[in-house]
Amino acid sequence: MLKDSQLDLCGRVDFARTTPLLARDEAFSFACAGCGGCCRGREDIVLSGFDLWRIAGRLRLPPQTVARAFCRASIGQVSHLPVLRLAPVREERNNCPFLTENHCAIHDAEPLVCALYPLAQEISREGEVSYFLQPTGCGGRVIEAKVEDYLARYDVPAREKTDVRWAQTCMDLEDVVEPLDAALEPPLRRRMQAKLWQALYFKFDYEKEFLPQLEENLVWLGAELQKLTDYQQRRNTYRKK
Ligand code: SF4
Ligand code: SF4
Repeated sequence: MLKDSQLDLCGRVDFARTTPLLARDEAFSFACAGCGGCCRGREDIVLSGFDLWRIAGRLRLPPQTVARAFCRASIGQVSHLPVLRLAPVREERNNCPFLTENHCAIHDAEPLVCALYPLAQEISREGEVSYFLQPTGCGGRVIEAKVEDYLARYDVPAREKTDVRWAQTCMDLEDVVEPLDAALEPPLRRRMQAKLWQALYFKFDYEKEFLPQLEENLVWLGAELQKLTDYQQRRNTYRKK
């Protein structure tokens, strides 16, 4: 089980990948007994803004309502950015909140992490998308597949453009937010975090396309962060007088 401190935005973890990247036409295999354990006790199902928007559309609820009802929110210790993950339901054997009688209630809007399992995605700064096999440690029926066929099961290639934009956005924001985090006083830091949540997760209408809304939000966020920076600088100057 991963510790909170090991989890960060985009499902990124702060330890090195231990298995090689796979080519799209490469075959891989894993063993699975079909126990449903992948949907229980998981603290590591991190949602991107796109994942949340898809679930919001499936449930026809605003993204913030979905997040409040089914997720746990924190700030990444490495990225300093919002981290949203599904919150297991303690009273129900730590099941994922969307697990109903061994079925996923949001099957057609499954988060990327679930759709890929046991594969995982890696995106470079240049936007290259790769996949690798996570060690499951499970026994049971051996399943063999080609990477491209496995990805096609959930139409993963169709969302890659959005996943790349999301990953690059997060990488760019990390560079901006880390120094701001250090420079801002606590109340301003909290305001910055609230604006990051809005821009990356909540300021979305599930009936409109995701990417144009993200682009619009990023322009808004840039202006808001600039206002906070200016305000902090004015305060620093005033104090020195
Ligand atoms: S991969 Fe493992 S935990 Fe998941 S359903 Fe298969 S046997 Fe169960
Ligand atoms: S979202 Fe669906 S597939 Fe993913 S852990 Fe929950 S029940 Fe399982």
